[in-house]
Amino acid sequence: MEQKGLMLYNTLSRTKEEFIPYNPPHVGLYVCGPTVYGDPHLGHARPAVTFDLLFRYLTSLGYKVRYVRNITDVGHLEHDADEGEDKITKKARLEKLEPMEVSHYYTERYHRAMDELNVLTPSIEPRASGHIIEQIELVKKILDEGFAYISEGSVYFDIDAYNRKHHYGTLSGRTTDEMLSGTRTLDGQSEKRNPYDFALWKKAAPEHIMRWPSPWSDGFPGWHLECSAMSTKYLGERFDIHGGGMDLMFPHHECEIAQSTAACGHEAAHYWVHNNMITINGKKMGKSLGNFITLEELFTGSHELLVQAYSPMTIRFFVLQAHYRSTLDFSNEALQAAEKGLDRLMKAVETLGKIKPAATSSVNPAELDEAYAAAMNDDLNSPLVIAALFDWVRTINQLNEGQQTISAEDLEHLRKSVNTIVFDVLGLRNESASGADDKVGPLVEMILDVRSEAKAAKNWALSDQIRDKLAEIGIRVKDRKDGADWEII
Ligand code: ZN
Repeated sequence: MEQKGLMLYNTLSRTKEEFIPYNPPHVGLYVCGPTVYGDPHLGHARPAVTFDLLFRYLTSLGYKVRYVRNITDVGHLEHDADEGEDKITKKARLEKLEPMEVSHYYTERYHRAMDELNVLTPSIEPRASGHIIEQIELVKKILDEGFAYISEGSVYFDIDAYNRKHHYGTLSGRTTDEMLSGTRTLDGQSEKRNPYDFALWKKAAPEHIMRWPSPWSDGFPGWHLECSAMSTKYLGERFDIHGGGMDLMFPHHECEIAQSTAACGHEAAHYWVHNNMITINGKKMGKSLGNFITLEELFTGSHELLVQAYSPMTIRFFVLQAHYRSTLDFSNEALQAAEKGLDRLMKAVETLGKIKPAATSSVNPAELDEAYAAAMNDDLNSPLVIAALFDWVRTINQLNEGQQTISAEDLEHLRKSVNTIVFDVLGLRNESASGADDKVGPLVEMILDVRSEAKAAKNWALSDQIRDKLAEIGIRVKDRKDGADWEII
């Protein structure tokens, strides 16, 4: 079978392209992180798991990945990022807190939820508020290049000027005419030459708490600016992959491209990767629709739409069961199916640990490796990886029942492959065997060895006693000709 490299769908070219890093083995990956003004919710789970999968897979291929995921703690305004009140300031005002208390609190909540989902921490997690100087420098550069103008203490990106040299709209395909028809008249818009221009720097209203001095006014950076400034700072003027949710393509990523191109004369990111959105029972998730579910509500089952709690790994497995570019619809039925599937997979992994080798193999573990590589290299097709794993769940059960055989060498190979795929790359955790529980297996095996010795010595009373005591604590022993199997019931 021909082994081709990783193919990634590049939203910019709208085709699958072979992934070739600028500077192998180094890979620069930038992903837009959360705006920290509320509890992490389902909408956060999908990009986090998608780019965790990419991060893990690139790492497993031997790349040295510098993964930068930002924290937006300033400048994300309520209406299209550019108008209205700052989301964090508003929360701080309503709860009578310092804005930094709000962003710290929700950043911690976000981290905890990511840990639960087994999402690896990025290499760098820069905050917008910690990079005001870099953002001011970037605004100066864009002004110097003639692609921005100052108006009433604010600085706006000049899309008409940009379009004379470059092309605004390469990512989303939107034209300025379309953008004009889509704009509403909002406060502050009169400061702009054109309604589609966007803010690089906003002069702060007197009541605005988060503000910094700049050459133009006491104010704060526009939301899109932070990602251009921080990606360049940590990954350079050209880096490999920029990721985020599809909802960020316009205006956020489109503006990022324009800013970077205006400042550097060229695009910064080579591949743009976007995950699709999550719907709930077929509807878009939104606070006004009453179907806004936080991750904590999912983990505890405390939202009225949920018939039960769903474990973090059930959520992760559910996200991985769909290709990242497909929509993903949450429903109780679908989550329960994911829970069952994950349970079957983890039981098979446990069974694999107990299989005894034979002299020869009737199975070939290299087939799993091939199916896995082919699926992952085809634009991270995790559902196909999971399908390949389930083919092997059947095989593992057949091996366990003696319907197939496997040599010691192949068994080791299979265990290694399954562990790499399930735990290292898909990033799943065996929730029923976490912490002290992973000592249960070796302990049961030891007790069963003692029981075998008792049986060999014809001490049936002791042998039965061990079996019955294990059953009492929920471990069922099944005798076989050459020993015993066990399972947690
Ligand atoms: Zn961003």
